[in-house]
Amino acid sequence: MKQTPKNAGDWFHPAAALDYLPVDHLRALQLKRLKTIAQLAYDRVALTSGRMDTAGFRPQDISSLDDIRRLPFTVKTDLRDTYPFGMFATPLEEVVRLHSSSGTTGKPIVVAYTQEDLEVWSSVMVRSFIACGVSRHDVIQNAYGYGLFTGGLGAHYGAEALGATVIPISGGATDRQIMVMKDFCVTVVCCTPSYFVHMIERARELGEDIRNFPLRVGVFGAEPWSEAMRKHIETESGIRAHDIYGLSEIIGPGVGIECDCQKGLHIFEDHFYPEIINPTTGEPCKDGDEGELVLTTLSKRAIPMLRYRTRDITCIIPEPCPCGRTLRRIGRISRRSDDMFIIRGVNVFPSQVEAALLAVEGTVPHYQIVLTREKGLDQMEVQVEVTPEVFTDTVGALEHLQTTIEKSIENILGINVKIRLVEPHTIERSMGKAKRIIDKRNLNS
Ligand SMILES: [Zn+2]
Repeated sequence: MKQTPKNAGDWFHPAAALDYLPVDHLRALQLKRLKTIAQLAYDRVALTSGRMDTAGFRPQDISSLDDIRRLPFTVKTDLRDTYPFGMFATPLEEVVRLHSSSGTTGKPIVVAYTQEDLEVWSSVMVRSFIACGVSRHDVIQNAYGYGLFTGGLGAHYGAEALGATVIPISGGATDRQIMVMKDFCVTVVCCTPSYFVHMIERARELGEDIRNFPLRVGVFGAEPWSEAMRKHIETESGIRAHDIYGLSEIIGPGVGIECDCQKGLHIFEDHFYPEIINPTTGEPCKDGDEGELVLTTLSKRAIPMLRYRTRDITCIIPEPCPCGRTLRRIGRISRRSDDMFIIRGVNVFPSQVEAALLAVEGTVPHYQIVLTREKGLDQMEVQVEVTPEVFTDTVGALEHLQTTIEKSIENILGINVKIRLVEPHTIERSMGKAKRIIDKRNLNS
């Protein structure tokens, strides 16, 4: 593995000290911030104060962190229903930035930042980079999209605040990405994992091998990805692939990050308070049990977000991390309840299909799930790209591969699905979040 020269002065960046706060100090800080932020939401956001009044529980009644469970949840549709500025706790004069995320249907959601909020955002991104072993010696190629999407600017300001050299290349123009990566001696890349897989492949076609570049770290996020995908990326590119977590409704990237141990993501708990709930009942889950992640922003001014239901499925890892950070960890998020689809009564997540595929040799992580309805019955076809070497194999070998994949998926999902092997480069490459599901069921029902 390639290493950037480090010295202790850079390595122990002062911003990272907050990652190691004694737990009782951290809890006291969280409680103090929770009271302040709940009061701000109560005073300024009509939707929230209305719900608190109905529940008969007000911010001044908060006496411990457990009382957070008595605060109302916030859900994505609240942001849509109050579009564009109904959740703001700060007048527009104090808002210095707006971002928005476009949904597949209806109005987008709008998120806002005060100057203070932007500083918090930069600081958690600085801490994220440090946790991945990135320092001011690094050259960071930021291939997240710049614009209304929070990925680009979020990573950008964090990387600059760290003192690293930032290349604000944004997404797309893959040949240029590869040229820049090589010629500018890039050591860190930020993008979606699926886009990086495409870069590895394109580099090969151009006669380059990323394993020979100085690149050593990838900070990958904005879409769920599997452990099998990490292995694929690390083997094919020779870098360390870190998972970063964030969502616009909370702040953008930098809510949580994997440290060097790569065993779960530390949540920057001094700013974001995590809970895990049973998605059906809303009741809290025990540490270690899987459920829906709920986050409260403890310091965000423009839109204080109380108990936001992320729809991401994970768990809180109760054991302390060997890295020494006192920030709690959540398990890798490989499932979003938004991505889930039901086929013949079985709940399916694309990441399960991905893991099943990558367990089979000769496949590449480019796949698409096509759902159709024939005579009232749901059908699922997985289109899988194979490597060029495999594609030139005999018909018998291809049939064998197809059966192996079918069995691998059946083992995980418990249902029989149709596999279609497709030629290399048939499945459209995304420069951002990969489109994994094509649901045609309502078109032909
Ligand atoms: Zn750790």
